[in-house]
Amino acid sequence: MLFHSTRYQAAPVSFREATLQGLAPDGGLWIMNEIPRMSNAWLRSFTKQSFHNIAYDVAWNYMSDDIEADTLRNIIEETFTFPMPLQKVGNCNVLELFHGPTLAFKDVGARFMARVMGHFAKNRSQELIVLAATSGDTGGAVAHAFYDVPHTRVFILYPCGKVTPMQERQFTTLGRNIVALEVDGTFDDCQELVKQALQNSELRTSLLLASANSINIARLIPQSFYYFWAFTQTTDPTLPVVYSVPSGNFGNLTAGIIAKKMGLPVHRLIAATNINDVFPDYLQTGRFASRASVATVSNAMDVGNPSNFVRLLDIYGNSVERMREDITGFSFSDEKTVRMMRQCCEEHDYLFDPHGAVAMLGLRAYREAHEERINGIALATAHPAKFARSVERAIGKSIPIPETLLQLSTEKKQVISVANSLENIREVLLRR
Ligand SMILES: *Cc1c(COP(=O)(O)O)cnc(C)c1O
Repeated sequence: MLFHSTRYQAAPVSFREATLQGLAPDGGLWIMNEIPRMSNAWLRSFTKQSFHNIAYDVAWNYMSDDIEADTLRNIIEETFTFPMPLQKVGNCNVLELFHGPTLAFKDVGARFMARVMGHFAKNRSQELIVLAATSGDTGGAVAHAFYDVPHTRVFILYPCGKVTPMQERQFTTLGRNIVALEVDGTFDDCQELVKQALQNSELRTSLLLASANSINIARLIPQSFYYFWAFTQTTDPTLPVVYSVPSGNFGNLTAGIIAKKMGLPVHRLIAATNINDVFPDYLQTGRFASRASVATVSNAMDVGNPSNFVRLLDIYGNSVERMREDITGFSFSDEKTVRMMRQCCEEHDYLFDPHGAVAMLGLRAYREAHEERINGIALATAHPAKFARSVERAIGKSIPIPETLLQLSTEKKQVISVANSLENIREVLLRR
């Protein structure tokens, strides 16, 4: 399988190249040349399969040219070491994707990508140097994803004094192959340094460099596995299945569309956003107008220019009409999100984080607008304890904090302070 750039100004590449490059050289995002349909026999029988078997069969379509069968199996088994249960909440189902090491669904994509990259580095007999800039949250996910993955070393650049102590501990206490670089500058400076380092010819000739940004195709594909998995857990698959996806950059929704195109019998996907509603707006008007993001309680979805929009356009041949056949968009205020958290706690004794609550609102809104009976599945993308303050304020009482979060505060930080200069970063990278 080859992958092309959404801008069509770069030659198509293998899965290996697309993963190691991250962004295409023309500035586009890599996307598979075709989305193959699983065989009818497979689609009739996958509901009896394990998560690992489903993941393997889906991934094989895209990776068989680049990864041997046994290796792909190992990568899948090492990535998916945590459960993804489907819970009944009222007349809805909730797919809990937050039982990984950083308690958010981004563990799925990041852990898979880290192992794939480590494997590709092994074949080049050189350690892979992974660079990532973070303003807070992604640092932890990337650090945990690559932690102890052979043939990789990760440098996390973060702005000194501008991330919360809890966020900082998530990527500064691991040690081993994870190096935290505290930059005397802003998040934009960190991003710029990563960009410059990746383009620096001296570094590129002496090191095998990659970036761990969220647009990597190796993060997107594994997210399609759990759409199949959730379907196997539903009690009544004869009703039309509707997935509600809390969305920011739309990687999660794009993965759901890929699952649907592969033959998963999805009736519809709901793109549920907070008031950063560029995409629901596009579905309604046919015009895409990016704008500056606005801060909300579901802050991982505060995105004003969703990066995966170009992949959706590519999949749907630039047709908003065809997109509307598969996707319904809704956006919700913080007030509604908070009310939903409180209501689910009171009526069903179920705790949503603000992002999961937006997904639940999406299902409710869809039900109100349509007469038909559906089998609704809301994707819960973060553990409520990760957003404890917002949740506690919404429900008016304190909530239990899992051991993994509590432990963090006692671990020792390991940090290298660097100036805001490429020269300084270059020294650190070459010194090792
Ligand atoms: C990143 C994130 C989202 C949004 O996912 P996209 O793939 O960017 O649409 C939703 N919820 C949480 C908790 C996230 O961290």
